[in-house]
Amino acid sequence: MHISMSAPDITESEINAVSQVLRSGWLSNGPHLKQFEKYFADYLGISHTIGVNSGTSALHLTMIAAGVTENTEVITASFSFVASVNCILYEKGIPVLVDIDSHTGNLNPKEIEAKITERTKAIIVVHAFGQPADMDAILMVADKYHLTVIEDACEAIGAEYKGQKVGTLGQAGTFAFYPNKQMTTGEGGMLVTNDEGWDTIFRSLRNQGRDVFDGWLTHNRLGYNYRLDEMSAALGVVQLARLEELLAKRAQVAEWYNQHIDKIDGLDKPYIADTTTRMSWFVYVVRCSVKRDLVIEELAKVGIPSRPYFTPIHLQPFYLEKFGYSELPNTEKAGQHFMALPFSSVMSETQVDYVCCHLEKIIREIREI
Ligand SMILES: *Cc1c(COP(=O)(O)O)cnc(C)c1O
Repeated sequence: MHISMSAPDITESEINAVSQVLRSGWLSNGPHLKQFEKYFADYLGISHTIGVNSGTSALHLTMIAAGVTENTEVITASFSFVASVNCILYEKGIPVLVDIDSHTGNLNPKEIEAKITERTKAIIVVHAFGQPADMDAILMVADKYHLTVIEDACEAIGAEYKGQKVGTLGQAGTFAFYPNKQMTTGEGGMLVTNDEGWDTIFRSLRNQGRDVFDGWLTHNRLGYNYRLDEMSAALGVVQLARLEELLAKRAQVAEWYNQHIDKIDGLDKPYIADTTTRMSWFVYVVRCSVKRDLVIEELAKVGIPSRPYFTPIHLQPFYLEKFGYSELPNTEKAGQHFMALPFSSVMSETQVDYVCCHLEKIIREIREI
């Protein structure tokens, strides 16, 4: 049986939508981007949505808007995908990494206050694995010290914190549509904000520093080409229309996994916080208390992919070399024990059974050694 780590969920509707764009000859700066942005704003209930060519681009632009420069510090988690810290370095800011809550894997609000200095400008909150971070507590500290809050919601589209959609709770939110995400545009991302000034800045920055009201050849600031093309936007429109279906299918796959994982000694299923009123399943990550790396190796031998997830950012070679080692105990423990299993909306119950059957056998054998 072939099992892949992740897979996009593409139907004839997506194929037709992209083909139509190609036939039209209008491949960039066109009506599909506008439609995708409008539709995304309606979905989230937010005033401004700006399509860009990746989640990483979206994060970069939030750092510029927040005024991050050489002498500013940005607080965030090390337990994340590398882009959520790299974006600080793009603007020469200083990342200040704080430890996580050991249950959820999200930023621990209690760790933030001690790390705030006069140079602190912003907090980047990552909603890891599709579970909202504890936003009330984070927004309270941010408010007290007048810090900007950016939500990295790249793994959490549709997730809800106390009934509110993530991405709409900070000054700006970022989303990503790489093919392993809950919905895809191939490559792509979205910036969302209720701040009109930031909307103007984002639109200019993604388009070579042009202002919307200016001519094509006037560049008012250092800009980038972070535009989202029409094929991607058209794909996004169809995927967004199917989002509830896609999220429901992922929740079903997670439920199949939960039933098995509950019965396997040595594995804990994902922890869901009380404040998570809706989980948006991005990955299915278990905590493995037997030798995780050996489990991954043995699974690979029978053709089942799995990954250590995340590898903490402060332990990545580039970060170790640049900043040296800093101690983040919960982050490191999670980095040693968390393991992502194959997961997507197109996975069948038979495939989940197959993965878990091997997993159970491998873990039993390791425990018996
Ligand atoms: C996927 C992801 C991103 C951005 O990804 P792109 O590949 O640049 O679209 C950013 N942060 C997190 C936490 C992610 O998982």
